[in-house]
Amino acid sequence: MTSRPNLKDFSPERLREQLATAGLRPFRADQIVAWLYRRGVEDFDSMTDLPLEERRRIGAEFELRALEVAAIDRSRDGTVKAALRARDGSVVESVLIPEEDRTTLCVSTQVGCPMACSFCATGFLGFTRNLTTAEIVDQVCRMREVAGAGQQISNVVFMGMGEPLLNTEAVIEAVRLLVHPKAFGLAPRRVTVSTVGVVPQIEKLLESVPVNLAVSLHATTDLVRDQLVPLNRRFPLAVLLDTLRREKRLSARRPVFVEYTLIGGVNDALADARRLPGLLHGIPAKVNLIPMNPHPDSPYEAPSEASVDRFMRELAARGMTVTVRRSRGEDIQAACGQLALRRTRDSAA
Ligand code: SAH
Repeated sequence: MTSRPNLKDFSPERLREQLATAGLRPFRADQIVAWLYRRGVEDFDSMTDLPLEERRRIGAEFELRALEVAAIDRSRDGTVKAALRARDGSVVESVLIPEEDRTTLCVSTQVGCPMACSFCATGFLGFTRNLTTAEIVDQVCRMREVAGAGQQISNVVFMGMGEPLLNTEAVIEAVRLLVHPKAFGLAPRRVTVSTVGVVPQIEKLLESVPVNLAVSLHATTDLVRDQLVPLNRRFPLAVLLDTLRREKRLSARRPVFVEYTLIGGVNDALADARRLPGLLHGIPAKVNLIPMNPHPDSPYEAPSEASVDRFMRELAARGMTVTVRRSRGEDIQAACGQLALRRTRDSAA
């Protein structure tokens, strides 16, 4: 591994500083950023508005690719999962989810995950390391090539492998590149960062970048949440929800997305649906129900359709905004909580 910094580790502002430190012209940053992110060009030979000599020097000082595509799985429903390999051999997964009105990319923030949620396949991998900003951003670059010209990535969700708020600095810098008009130029509200509830990092994220926050709640009692999300023992429901209640940056225009994975017989009772609105009282929130996607490592089961329906109706009747996240890419283990570096039999052949 080389120790050269990667051009993709820096927002345009910080790249200017980096170039200056390396004795290069800071204003070249905008040109480089335009090539890398607007045009998707990654070889210096093509960067024709930069003098050859400067291209050589920048190339000698900086890396510019962080990930290579190792494998691609395509689902019957159009979802595409890619395994992407970093320079140290670590592999992470990204998932491209085409829908009628948008194409969402789900990116990873860590190799594995230390949170060990008992129903999540990534949790069973254990934790290897944090991704760098360049490795997070390169998921967008690689997946944009995989998607092809006909399919623009319109939304990015930090809901792949890993816990984003255990890697907050790198995540924030990656978000800056996603929303920077000279870089990817995504509308900030088309970027969502999901956390299992790393309380001390929530404010830092929201004050640094104008993204949507999603919180993985999954339970209405500490007894059940302790079982599902071990981090709950450190930041129990009351602490997490008080933090959200006090968070000035959340509003009706910028609500928190409360993710609730419905697990058959565990957290899908009518009593849970009745408790949830009270817990969320005073928090601008939208509830997103995710029927459990079963996988071999976990004993938990999908909820019945009837219980999903009942849960949703109960919340709606109590005035909550609630949606059900349709499972995508299940046939290639690309659905929520199934990212575990497993290959499907078809594509491995
Ligand atoms: N670590 C962050 C980012 C991952 S988001 C977080 O937990 O929020 C992935 C989402 O899928 C989380 O809401 C997670 O709880 C949910 N999930 C995990 N395993 C799942 C499964 N087997 N079925 C459905 N959803 C699952």
